[in-house]
Amino acid sequence: MKRIAIDMDEVIADFNSKMIPIFNTRFNTQISLADLEGVTIQQLRPDIKEQVEAMIGEAGFFADLAVIPHSQRVIKKLTETYEVFITTAAMEFPLSFDAKFRWLAEHFPFISPMNIVFCGNKSILNADYLIDDNARHFEHFSGEGILFSAPHNKQVRGFRRVNNWLEIESMFSL
Ligand SMILES: [Mg+2]
Repeated sequence: MKRIAIDMDEVIADFNSKMIPIFNTRFNTQISLADLEGVTIQQLRPDIKEQVEAMIGEAGFFADLAVIPHSQRVIKKLTETYEVFITTAAMEFPLSFDAKFRWLAEHFPFISPMNIVFCGNKSILNADYLIDDNARHFEHFSGEGILFSAPHNKQVRGFRRVNNWLEIESMFSL
């Protein structure tokens, strides 16, 4: 069975839809999704990087993110022919572990906890495919990286790119 590793934030969990309004309220700004083209929120506002990371790092921040459309149905289908792992670089925000784990249990109950990997450097992963919005994780990855489109990676070239879960569904001929 071939193995697929799938990232969480901005791949199955809609991080920006929650982050942007909270960010705007808390820092009294009016950024939109378009402002995040090519940059992360930390790169957009390096002046308040630490406060932003503290905000994202709060326990529970990840608890109520919306599910990216079609990801549940397509991943469920993938599990019929592939070994599927959810792999998230959770070490950046250690207080997120509990919320992320509960979020997966709620929205992806068909993924066994044994197939959930909270990691730092994703080069440790041994899989045939890695679906991720951060191309930096593909650099030392032994399988094929599949770049899931997000505003921040719009200019990134050199990887197979998918714009949504329907494209993944046809890529894997499900
Ligand atoms: Mg991500």
